[in-house]
Amino acid sequence: MKRGLVLGALMVVGALLTASGAARQTPSAASIQVDKVRDNLYVFRGGGGNTAAFITANGVTLVDAKLPGWGKPILEKLKEITEKPVTTIINTHTHFDHVGGNVEFPATVEVVTHENTAKLMREMRPVTGGPEQPNVFKDKNGLGLPKRTFKDRMTLGSGDERIELHYFGRAHTGGDAWVVFPALRVLHTGDVFAAKILPLIDANNGGSGVEYSQTIAKAVAALKNIDTVITGHNPTTLTMNDLKAYSDFTREFAQTAQAAKKAGRTIDDVVNSWKTPERFQKDGYLTPEEIQQQFRQSIAAQAARLRANVEVVWNETK
Ligand SMILES: [Zn+2]
Repeated sequence: MKRGLVLGALMVVGALLTASGAARQTPSAASIQVDKVRDNLYVFRGGGGNTAAFITANGVTLVDAKLPGWGKPILEKLKEITEKPVTTIINTHTHFDHVGGNVEFPATVEVVTHENTAKLMREMRPVTGGPEQPNVFKDKNGLGLPKRTFKDRMTLGSGDERIELHYFGRAHTGGDAWVVFPALRVLHTGDVFAAKILPLIDANNGGSGVEYSQTIAKAVAALKNIDTVITGHNPTTLTMNDLKAYSDFTREFAQTAQAAKKAGRTIDDVVNSWKTPERFQKDGYLTPEEIQQQFRQSIAAQAARLRANVEVVWNETK
């Protein structure tokens, strides 16, 4: 039974994006790479989505908590930086490579999410196009589930320690939180912008291929004075210009699928002909080989993701 669960977990990890090398690694603090973004803001890479650690006078706020099993390693790694306790975890969305570690923190830690994500985390529905998601919260009687939620906007803390949470609509899921550290001029996008690659459009968890681009455009218009963008999975920070370009990239992708449907072509036509447009290739968008190397996503898994995305847009197009 145990072995089956472990193998299952390894297989699902390969299907979501995981940071380089970490996909098949046993959770450990040594496998977490720490990048200092500001004096009081760090990014922990490896073991799932990028975790931000914001050190304040009274404690640490984390953005995302990685795959199941990686909560303890996050805490251990954090001890190398500060003695302060984790007080808050903000989860950007419901995927298990961002929320799985929640259950390894004390019950006193306040978990904050968008209201839709709070509902979705109770269910941990399968991701569109795979994989199934383990429900670590059910196994722990609801430990790690959010108790505090927001609808459009929420402010945590004050002064230079203020954190602004925003919701701009459907994209990667139906509950994507945008997390801003205004005094630091830093944004964490979660997986709405995972990396310079095709998005994962998780319709089963409320995501939308047709609305994806305009949701990003709303964020770009609303969020001013940002110098540094922490993405869901990219191994380096990016910029607002990169985010703006990602709005164009996701719009062109959706329009390509929509135009094909309206012209009476097939999903196969789109899947077989779609390539990263040249101007995005020049802008550092990853080749299939680079995606395989950086994120351990096989060429076949990438093709399956492309098909799943086209199907989502197709189903949203009348
Ligand atoms: Zn995700």
